[in-house]
Order: sequence, then structure tokens, then C-alpha cells
Amino acid sequence: MESGAVNCARCGQPIQPGQPWHLDHDDTDRSKYIGPSHTRCNLSAAGKASHKYD
Ligand SMILES: [Zn+2]
Repeated sequence: MESGAVNCARCGQPIQPGQPWHLDHDDTDRSKYIGPSHTRCNLSAAGKASHKYD
């Protein structure tokens, strides 16, 4: 494992030191963790789920 480098579970980009992040849950099963994700990725995913545009 690289020192301190963690990739976002949603966008796949590295989470930089100092960037806000969450330990994120699966959208369909809130008891499951998918791993760390950027706070903004987590929030945008939640917004998409509730709006359902395609
Ligand atoms: Zn992200």
C-alpha cells in the first residue's frame, strides 16, 4: 500500500491529504461500507439517487 494514498470509492481519484472525505456506504445497502470517498462525491451520489434522471 502506498503511504497515505487512498482512492475514492466513487470517482477513483486519490483523496488528497486535507480533502474532506467520508467512510462511504453502499447506495443499496446502508449496512455495507464501500470505502472512503470524497465528501462531494458522496453528496452528489446521494443527490442523483433521489432525483433519478438518466
Ligand atoms: Zn471522489
